[in-house]
Formats: sequence, structure tokens, C-alpha cells
Amino acid sequence: MKGKVYLVGAGPGDYKLLTLKGLECIKIADVIVYDRLANINYLKEAKPNCEFIYVGKASSNHTLPQDDINKVIAAKAKEGKIVTRLKGGDPYVFGRGGEEAEVLVSEGIEFEVVPGITSAIGGLCYAGIPITHRDHASSFHVITGHLRDDDKENEELNWNALANTKGTLVFLMGVANIKKISENLIKEGKDKETPVALISWATRYNQRVVTSTLENVYETAIKENVKPPTLIAIGSVVGLRENLNFFEQKPLFGKNVMVTRSRTQSSSLVEKIMDLGGNSIEVPTIKIEKIENNLELENEINKINEYTYLVLTSKNGVDIFFDKLNEMGKDSRALANLKICAIGTATAKEIENRGVKPDIIPEKFIAEYLFEELKPKLKTNDKILIPRAKNARDYLVNKLSEICQVKEIHTYETVIDNSKKEEVLELINEGNIDYITFASSSTVTNFVELIGKVNIDKLENIKIISIGPITSNTAKELGINIYKEATVATIDGMIEIIKKD
Ligand code: SAH
Repeated sequence: MKGKVYLVGAGPGDYKLLTLKGLECIKIADVIVYDRLANINYLKEAKPNCEFIYVGKASSNHTLPQDDINKVIAAKAKEGKIVTRLKGGDPYVFGRGGEEAEVLVSEGIEFEVVPGITSAIGGLCYAGIPITHRDHASSFHVITGHLRDDDKENEELNWNALANTKGTLVFLMGVANIKKISENLIKEGKDKETPVALISWATRYNQRVVTSTLENVYETAIKENVKPPTLIAIGSVVGLRENLNFFEQKPLFGKNVMVTRSRTQSSSLVEKIMDLGGNSIEVPTIKIEKIENNLELENEINKINEYTYLVLTSKNGVDIFFDKLNEMGKDSRALANLKICAIGTATAKEIENRGVKPDIIPEKFIAEYLFEELKPKLKTNDKILIPRAKNARDYLVNKLSEICQVKEIHTYETVIDNSKKEEVLELINEGNIDYITFASSSTVTNFVELIGKVNIDKLENIKIISIGPITSNTAKELGINIYKEATVATIDGMIEIIKKD
């Protein structure tokens, strides 16, 4: 077995600013070596047994010295593993990617480099600054701000050339040396009034940009407490930011939204929040546990011809039901004589994904509405199959049973997921959460169980968004104030409410 190393540019931070090739390298990796500049959410795309090695900060104080990073990468590759080394931005723009590649060559290890969007260009872009512009800059220069502090300092960079080019100057790793940088440039003749932007955590939800002039930038940085990672952009293109600043104008820019859903279901909400410029913090409160060896379900599927209705109430429910059907060597044709009802558009869509069009989708996505819609249609000799969660509400089954025969089968149960408890409490205590979303009654109950009843009053200053009336009621009963409820009880409905807010 021969190992291989991919040096992958992970882009400047925005989750979607990664190449397809980079994503592929993450998915096939046995080992991922990463540092603080690579968005850690990429690790979710890795294989289940992938090993993660954190090699620390990319700025001045490494937790692992470069030599050790090189050794780790080489050793893992020699074990025959596929190693993906995720580096912020582009692997060859500073960050010592070239040295890592040289080590691999000298060790005879196969490697590939996947370029990434460097923060020097992408970071400026998200700050509303085009790095070149016909009326402003015909070249750009990317420079290390990590200057030597011995007497060779002035030999390292040609300050005279930098001061006299009309191109845009971008310093990386320069926060500690802003004073030296601005003084050297002014000394060599650069206009004191040249606009400067300090761009921190570029392309992330917590991007922060402060602008100044070359003469005042050091004071500005001190006053505004600018910290790495920060880009220093110098040149008249900085002025274009006023017009071109699309990113910071996104509706959820700078907002932290806690998303409480089961692991398997949160992705569409999380993605929508990110696309709107917000930071979504996933809190898995529940996990779905499928009921294994479900003989009861098999029995009813074998007698499916006796039924006239099939009611499916969640995406998980649909998946488990159809998987079982397939496992038993049957397909959707077995359901040809049934009317199929779906609670919720997500449930309906999942049924359609299985090649079946649901016959009944209630106007509002709760059991009460389904009942109202079914009531006039049902006859006493109808027979309804409801495969669903063990801890679901009794309402639907009870009401339907008043009219005809109903068989409820438990196909899965939801259990508390405690894995993020400490982290969640810490975030709430820090007071940085703007919204919490609840997409079902059970997530509310489970969230409260997770944080503990004693901590409910800590939610007071957070805007709580509920998907619909049942969820809101559960919250109220537990002493949680709902800030707003979605008009349409869907994920999009919740997003709409937050956007308007
Ligand atoms: N290879 C990286 C640069 C590594 S050097 C790239 O191509 O972007 C590390 C420096 O990059 C940091 O000190 C900072 O100046 C800059 N940097 C990287 N990502 C950044 C970000 N998201 N926001 C601001 N600066 C960033």
C-alpha cells in the first residue's frame, strides 16, 4: 500500500469557497491535518473513521513546529494512508506549503497540490475591495508582514519599490508590524493619505473591516484592537468598498443562530443560514435511533394489501419504511392500492424521492390538519397504517381510531444527544447567541433537558424562533418565551421570519 499526500488550499474561510477537488480530497482522506485558518466544518465531510490532527495556529506561535508537522504528514503517508493537509487560503501563498512539498519529494512520497482561493484576493473581495481596477491599480503585490527583527530587516523587502508602485499592496501576517510597515512606506515616498483596510477573519460571519489612512493606521489598529488573522490592504481600491460591500450586507451577516435539530435533519437550515451570511451553530439535541429487526413492520408490509391508507409523518419515517420495503424485495408498486398521506413538505418530498406521489398533503403541516382533511374521506371499513416514531403524540392515532381501524407501528425513536452540552452552555453564557430555532416540540423538550431547567432564564435575551403553534406551546409550557413563530411551518418559513427580523 502506497500513501499519498494532498496539500489542499481550504480557501479563506467561507464554507463554500473550496474547490471541488479540495472537497474530494477531504472525502477520501484517512488522515486530515489542519490548522486554525481552515474552516473546521469541512471535517464533517470526512469519512467516518478519518483521523483528525490539529497542528495549531497559523500565526506566530505554532502549537506544532513546522518540522513536526512535516514529520507527522510524512509518517502517516508512509503507513500507506491518504493524508489531506488542509491549509487556509492557497497552500503556496505563505504558510510554508512549498517546504511541506519539498519534504515529501525528499522522502519519496507521492503528492498533489490543490490550489485554493487565497485570502489575499478572496478576503479583499468579501470586504468589497477589488484587488485591481482600471482606474485604481494595474498590479497587486502580496507581501509577508512577518518581518525579521535583526539588522537584515531592511534587506528583506524593497520598501522603495513597494512605496512607489501604484499597485495594491496586501500584507499578510502583518498585524504585529503595522507601525513598521506604514513608516517604511511613508519614508520611501508613499502618500500618507493612501487608504488602508484592515480585514480580520475575512469571508467569515465574524469578518470585521476597519479603514484608515497609511498615516493613521497604526493608531486605528490599536484603538480598534485589531488581532490576527488580518489582511492589510493598501491602495485607493480600498475606497470602492463603500459601493461594493456585498458580503456585510447579507441579511444574517454577523448573526449567530443556534440550530436545534436532530443531526440528520439540520443541514438545509444550516446551509440557508450560511448562505445568508450568518453563523449557524448546530446543537444536536436528539438523535434518531431506528428500531432494528422490526418484525412488526415486516408483518404489516406483508399484509399491506389489507390497508387503504398509509400515513407518513417525517422524513426519517419515510426512509425507514421504504428501506424496509426494499430490504424485503418489494418496491413502491406494493403501495399501488393505498392512498398515501404526508405530514409536511419535507416528508412529501422524501416520498416523491422514492418515486411515489403522496395523495394527501395537509395545508398546514400538523396532525390536526391532516385529521381534518382525512375525516370526510374516511369510511368505517378503511384501514390505516401509521409507521412512525415511538415517542410521537397520540392525537392522530386516537382521533382516526374513532372512525376506522388504525395500526400504529413504531419504526424509530428519538433519544437525547448529550454530546455538546458544555459547549452549548458556554455559548449561551457568553451572550453571543442572537437566535435559537426550534423545529419541533421534541427539540424544545430535549433542548431543555440538555441545558437543564435551571438554565432556562439564561435564554431571556435570545430571540427564540419556533416552526409552528405546537412547538410554541411546548416552549411556553416549559417557560421559554417564543419571540416569533413561522407563518408557514417549514424550515423556509423559519428562515423567512429571521430574515425579516
Ligand atoms: N495561505 C494563506 C496565508 C497563510 S499566512 C492564504 O493564501 O490566504 C496567514 C495569514 O494569512 C494571516 O496572518 C492573515 O494575514 C492571512 N489570512 C488568512 N486567512 C485570513 C482570513 N480569513 N482573514 C484575514 N486574514 C487571513
